[in-house]
Amino acid sequence: MTREAAVTDGAATAVPERGDSLVEVRDLKVHFPITRGILFDRVVGHVKAVDGVDLTIPRGRTYGLVGESGCGKSTLGRAILRLTRPTSGTVVFDGIELTGLPADRMRAMRRRMQMIFQDPMSSLDPRQNVESILIEGLQAHGIGADRAARRKLITRTLDAVGLPTWALSRYPHEFSGGQRQRIGIARALVLGPDLIVADEPVSALDVSVQAQVINLLDELQEELGLTYLVIAHDLAVVRHISDVVGVMYLGTLVEEAPSDRLYSQPLHPYTRALMSAVPVPDPDVEDRRERILLAGDLPSPANPPTGCRFHTRCPWAQPTRCPDERPELRTIGASRVACHWAERIASGELRRHEVTAQLVRPEDAGDTPGTLATPSEPGSFV
Ligand code: SF4
Repeated sequence: MTREAAVTDGAATAVPERGDSLVEVRDLKVHFPITRGILFDRVVGHVKAVDGVDLTIPRGRTYGLVGESGCGKSTLGRAILRLTRPTSGTVVFDGIELTGLPADRMRAMRRRMQMIFQDPMSSLDPRQNVESILIEGLQAHGIGADRAARRKLITRTLDAVGLPTWALSRYPHEFSGGQRQRIGIARALVLGPDLIVADEPVSALDVSVQAQVINLLDELQEELGLTYLVIAHDLAVVRHISDVVGVMYLGTLVEEAPSDRLYSQPLHPYTRALMSAVPVPDPDVEDRRERILLAGDLPSPANPPTGCRFHTRCPWAQPTRCPDERPELRTIGASRVACHWAERIASGELRRHEVTAQLVRPEDAGDTPGTLATPSEPGSFV
């Protein structure tokens, strides 16, 4: 299937050249206010879910975003699509600044930016059959001259994701998990998007089905020139599919590098700890694998540590700079790293030491009586 086949005549776009950037994110922040009060709400703090992220997604490539649960990676994905309103910063999509775009123009842009959700069962309306699910977006965006044209389009899209035409009359509960995720991919694909944000696209699936869905995403990218932002906590999935990988910790990007480089030569202590948890299929290498266990839990984004946010858990933390000076992302070789001592850690000059776990108090986590206001964009996402 060509890209033109996936969209209407008027909305068709050529397969993009690889190389230039499709998405540029600059100093993006998403702070959710914590409010408290009986008669009148007053803001008593902020959860800094995303706190100053810079990244670029090259056109036709895959950017993988990894990090622990609660690090802000899903919020970042939603803010890029403007499903969550950013507090500050900019998102430029194909040369158009999205953060200040009026609602009607943003709605038109949404056709080009689609999302694949983690749980295909809960993201598909059980009362709609597949044809209705796929046709809904086409109607919302005025794609297809009539019902016959739309049906032709969705039939081609179903074929592209490996589902038969008879699936159109079936309902989500009649499919397996892998097939449901294919429907989710078809729903995104039928609109002819340029960017697809896939939030944990295979984590709800059996391991045997995960590879099929990942390979499908790979093939569709090759064929249609799609650009992906893949958000996942599974490092093996991200490694397989990504050209560039960004590692997030407590709302910030701590390292970014080409996929092979990041996995073979992680520079940031947090990345090293993540990589040390990935098993190696070679028993000799596996026996010699360095394992770094991080002490304590992820601190609260409502009250992040001063200086380097990782210093409370970092096995290489130093008494100078780390507790009070926030490291900027610096370019070191092919990587960008936010660590004051990355070169000296890589050379072995600085040694690992024991870290005592620090208690994260409930009041630090914003768990005292209060309400978290989540500023989502109005309107549905189609
Ligand atoms: Fe660890 Fe210090 Fe580097 Fe932060 S700046 S990652 S605390 S060594």
